[in-house]
Amino acid sequence: MCRNIPIFDGHNDALLRLFQLADPIAAFRHRGDDGHLDIVRAKAGGFAGGIFACFVPSAGEEDAGVVLTDGGYTMAMPEPLSLMNARAHTDAMIACADRIVTELFDQVRLCRSVSEIRRCMDDGVLAMTLHLEGAEAIGEDLDGFEHYYSLGVRSIGPVWSRRNCFGTGVPFRYPGGPAIGPGLTEAGLALVRACDERGIMLDLSHLNAAGFWDVARTSRAPLVATHSNAHAVCPVPRNLTDDQLRVIRDSGGLVGVSLSVCDLRPDGHNDPLTPLDVVIRHMDHLLSILGPDGVAIGSDFDGAVMPAAIGDAGGLKRLVAAMDEHGYDENLVAKLCHVNWLALLERCWH
Ligand code: ZN
Repeated sequence: MCRNIPIFDGHNDALLRLFQLADPIAAFRHRGDDGHLDIVRAKAGGFAGGIFACFVPSAGEEDAGVVLTDGGYTMAMPEPLSLMNARAHTDAMIACADRIVTELFDQVRLCRSVSEIRRCMDDGVLAMTLHLEGAEAIGEDLDGFEHYYSLGVRSIGPVWSRRNCFGTGVPFRYPGGPAIGPGLTEAGLALVRACDERGIMLDLSHLNAAGFWDVARTSRAPLVATHSNAHAVCPVPRNLTDDQLRVIRDSGGLVGVSLSVCDLRPDGHNDPLTPLDVVIRHMDHLLSILGPDGVAIGSDFDGAVMPAAIGDAGGLKRLVAAMDEHGYDENLVAKLCHVNWLALLERCWH
């Protein structure tokens, strides 16, 4: 009965995948053999729009490798980026997004406001909002801040899972908590205040605990983690502890449930054979603390291994069906699928 509810998604890495291809426009327009998100898959799954990340990989990151430990894994923290590299790569990714929305103007639009997103949803056009996953390109003195705002960026994660001039991200490991490393720097605190003033959403996914609490003390905006899960269900540093969830709730904030299997599974394995009831377990736990207005979806399409039962954006209806079968009523499913994201963005973007 909930089958036609549109989904607004809090996080994907489609631009990173597309940007590396010879013909990003064709790759986004058509359904390719690989990739999680393109216009064809979006239409099939009810993916109406989302927050598209601009992410700059560290040099040599692919070789960093996972080291297996007793009962888990750990990974060396990727190298910091240079300002020049971060800025050049980010500008090129945004130029790629601009080419896509220009060429495919009748199928996808760049959105800077909730009214623009709603218009896209009414018109059956994909809504794309730009996010910086790690704020390296902005620079320590924030001199890139207005540049990226003017290009349409409306969401910023101060750090990815590495160090930069604003703060420190959480490492990838299992098991472990987020209380690793120092809090935000002076530049990080200035970035938080600048986002508050400008009405840019701050994304706390990937930030360590000390940085999280610095944001909670500094920002007047709702606290948001676009793609993170419940630490009580899957104990990785990327996931949020109950203490963090309570302060997110008290701020009127939101958590987007990530479909990345290694951040879902209680055993931390990066195994696509992960049943959808594991996603529902996270939703149940998050709902029990955040309430029905504080939970949404943040898929991490094109950025992580997905449950085989969903596969890609074309399989989102199976997630909606799982919510339905679990007994979430139509009103709650609509909140999780898009109502909560739009209401949250309205609170953040003023
Ligand atoms: Zn991420």
